Amino acid sequence: MGQVIDKTYNGLKVPQGEKLVIANGKASASTRPIIPFIEGDGTGADIWRASRRVIDAAVEKCYGGKRSIAWFEVFAGEKAKNEFGEWLPADTIEAIREFGCAIKGPLTTPVGGGIRSLNVTLRQIFDLYCCVRPVRYFAGVPSPVVAPQKLDVVIYRENTEDVYAGIEFPAESKESCKLIELLKSFGKEVRPDSGIGIKPISRFGSQRLVRRAIEYAMANGRKSVTLVHKGNIQKFTEGAFRDWGYQLAQAEFNDSTVSEEKLWGELSGKMPEGKVLINDRIADSMFQQVLTRPDEYSVLATTNLNGDYLSDACAAQVGGLGIAPGANIGDTCAIFEATHGTAPKYANLDVINPGSVILSGAMMMEFLGWMEAKDVIHAALGATIQQKVVTYDLERLMTGAKKVKTSEFATAIIDNMKS
Ligand code: NAP
Repeated sequence: MGQVIDKTYNGLKVPQGEKLVIANGKASASTRPIIPFIEGDGTGADIWRASRRVIDAAVEKCYGGKRSIAWFEVFAGEKAKNEFGEWLPADTIEAIREFGCAIKGPLTTPVGGGIRSLNVTLRQIFDLYCCVRPVRYFAGVPSPVVAPQKLDVVIYRENTEDVYAGIEFPAESKESCKLIELLKSFGKEVRPDSGIGIKPISRFGSQRLVRRAIEYAMANGRKSVTLVHKGNIQKFTEGAFRDWGYQLAQAEFNDSTVSEEKLWGELSGKMPEGKVLINDRIADSMFQQVLTRPDEYSVLATTNLNGDYLSDACAAQVGGLGIAPGANIGDTCAIFEATHGTAPKYANLDVINPGSVILSGAMMMEFLGWMEAKDVIHAALGATIQQKVVTYDLERLMTGAKKVKTSEFATAIIDNMKS
C-alpha cells in the first residue's frame, strides 16, 4: 500500500506509505499514512513499545488490513545525541515537516549548556499554536474528587505567546535597567532591582486559537466554548484575549454560536438547538468551577500560562498525568505526545504507565479521521482499568488491583479489543 518515497532521513529509508497533507490543522484522507515517531528518553522506549502495539492492534481490529500505519523512526533527545551527536538532528525536523504528523514520547530537557527544551523547540519550528488536551474520566481510576466522571473537557491552550515567548531579563541587567527607564517615561514606577518579563498576547495569536476551539466544538457536538482569562487584572493581554475571542465568534461563526450575553439578554436563557455557547470565565473562577460545576463546561480556550496550569489541574482531577494525552497542532503539522516527563528512575524497568501516549495515539486516530480506532482504544483501555489490571502508579491507589508491567498492560488492552 502507498507509494515508494525514495528518501532517507537520519540514514533510515522511508517506509512505503502515503504522505499526509495537513491544511488548516486537518489531515487529508489516507489508508497508510507515514507517521514519524520519536521514541523518547528515559521511560520512552518502554512506553513507545507498548503504545505502538496497542495502536496497531486497534487499527487492525477496525479495518482488518485495509488501513495501517507506516511507522518511521526519527530521532531526538538522548538517543539522537548518542547516535548523531545532536539533540535534534536537521533530518528529524525535515522528516516531520515532510510527513506532517508525528507522535513522540517524553524528551529530556538537557539542564545547563543553554539548550532549550526540545518540546518547546518543536512547537516553535512548526508553529504548533494549539496545545490540545482532552480530559475525561475512565471509570475505576483513583481520583481525588467525589464525582470525577462529571469532568469531560477539551482544553485548547495557546502555545506560542504569553510569558512563554521568552522575553525576560534578569534584575539589574542592561536590558532591565533600560526597560525600567522607558517605563518611567510612561509614568510607571518599577523597583530598580526588578527582573522584567514581557507578556505579549496578540489578536492574531488569540483568534487563530479560538477559531480552532470553536471549529472543534462544532464538529464534535460540544455545547460550549469558554474563554478563560485573567482580564480583570491584565486588561490589554488577558482581557483582550477574551474580547478578540468574542469578536471572532461573531465575525466568523455568527450563525452557529450564541454569546452568553445574547443568551440571557435576548433569548431568556434558552439555548437554540445545535448552536455552541460562547462564554468566558476569569481564570481563578474557572479553577473553582471545574471542581464545583464541572459538567457545565465543555471546550476551554485559554491563554498559554493559564492553560498550562489548568491542563494539569484538570488531569489530576481525573486520575493524573500517567493517562493524560496531548497534541500540539498547527496549520500544517501536528505532534501528538506524552504530557508527562521521562520519569528516568523507571527507565527500562517495564513498569511505567503508557496510558498518556496510548491516548495520544487515540487522538491521532481522531486526527486521521479513524474514529473507530479511537473508540476501540478508549473502550479497551477503559475495560482494562475497570478489570483493575493496572500499572504501579494506579495500583498503589486502588484496592484489590493487579499490578502489571507496561508491556503486560498493553497486552491486557489488546486482549480486551479481541473480546
Ligand atoms: P516526570 O518525568 O513527569 O516524572 C515525575 C513523576 O511523575 C515520576 O517520578 C512519577 O511519579 C510520575 N510519572 C511520570 N510519568 C508517569 C507515567 N507515565 N506513569 C506513571 N507515573 C508517571 O517529571 P520530572 O522528573 O520533573 O522530569 C524528568 C524529565 O522529563 C526532565 O528532563 C524534564 O525536562 C522532562 N519533561 C519532558 C516532558 C515532555 O517531553 N513532554 C514533560 C515534562 C518533563 P512517582 O515517582 O510518584 O511514581
